[in-house]
Amino acid sequence: MVFVRFSFLIIFLLLGQLTILAQQKPNFILIVADDLGFGDLSINGSAQIKTPHIDELAQTGIRFTEGYVSSPVCSPSRAGLLTGINQVRFGHDNNIGGNQLGFDPEFLGLPLTEKTIADHLKKLGYINGLIGKWHLGDAPHFHPLKRGFDEFWGYTGGGHDYFRSEPDGKGYLSPIECNYKTPEPITYITDDVGNESVGFIKKNKAQPFFLYAAFNAPHTPMQATDEDLALYDFIEDEKRRTYAAMVHRLDVNVGKIIAAVKEEGLAENTLIVFISDNGGPVDSNASINAPFNGQKGILLEGGIHVPFIFNWQGKLPEGVTFDYPVTSLDILPTFLGLAGGKSDKELDGVDLLPHLLKENSTIPHQDLKWRFTISAAIREGNWKLVRLPDRLPMLFDLSKDVSEQKDVSLYHLGKTKELLKKLGAW
Ligand code: CA
Repeated sequence: MVFVRFSFLIIFLLLGQLTILAQQKPNFILIVADDLGFGDLSINGSAQIKTPHIDELAQTGIRFTEGYVSSPVCSPSRAGLLTGINQVRFGHDNNIGGNQLGFDPEFLGLPLTEKTIADHLKKLGYINGLIGKWHLGDAPHFHPLKRGFDEFWGYTGGGHDYFRSEPDGKGYLSPIECNYKTPEPITYITDDVGNESVGFIKKNKAQPFFLYAAFNAPHTPMQATDEDLALYDFIEDEKRRTYAAMVHRLDVNVGKIIAAVKEEGLAENTLIVFISDNGGPVDSNASINAPFNGQKGILLEGGIHVPFIFNWQGKLPEGVTFDYPVTSLDILPTFLGLAGGKSDKELDGVDLLPHLLKENSTIPHQDLKWRFTISAAIREGNWKLVRLPDRLPMLFDLSKDVSEQKDVSLYHLGKTKELLKKLGAW
């Protein structure tokens, strides 16, 4: 009898240990806005658009003032984000085109040689969900469910209509795919992505999870609800008014995700990350990248310097800024470090946690490099060199000229040559 009781006690203690071990692996929520202007969050100075929920993430977390993505357009940015490797290294330099001459559709997607965050985390016992936009290949072999994700609600293309999807629709009207239920007609897609994300959190709260909430907003088409448009009726320009309403709805749904994490008691075990996949395309969606010059598709700051926030209640510093350059490529190694895993490939990103907890006093990156179609750029310290094919290289001193207005390449020829050489070697 004593022995039986003792055995029960041992089993009970072991189960307790296992539960604690399982709980120790943190959850990851990666929220990605699409084509958001840097200056369009109230935390970044917008007096026109109110974003209290995204602001809350920053105010109770870490705001990276020098946060970059690895590409100024959607697909390559996501290829880098999800692999931790600069996508230029595996030839994913540009958006996925259609079936253009010379391109084999078999290869229009994230190369199968690369592992995603979801592939890595799956091996560590995580359940992974993608809600929203994929944009890393339409062919069946590129499908998110074949790239480490267990659950998928969304579309594989680069954008979607906000109000409509059709059973035989193509492009922005493509049907919504889902592997865990029959998708209902979309209401307003930003709300749907928010609601499905909340559903994923509630459903999978008992085990470590990775949620990739890839919102469409505020990417084109410019579509908002009448209710949200009414909130911004003081904005005269119709496109800007629609954009403001779309960002508002994005913020409301980020708020839903934060609330679900709190309600489920997961706040102290969940790292929430918020970024935009690239800067705002000023002309097409009326976004504002202030104080930066340039926009989506350009390697000036406006194309690649994005809102970048980490939030983890009780585990990371609250309401502080981190002022050294970081990149979206750092997200994968940071997640893997926390989950107790390691990549078998050389990564370009670094685990940011030691830097954030001040265990490592060095800066995360000596330099950052970009290549996009025929342009390239490098940032080293406060120097940034931008190389375009139709003019001499431009050098900016970001410590004095964050808006990249004054090319000082001829005043600092030595630095210009040095950076040009580094970029060329890369
Ligand atoms: Ca984008």
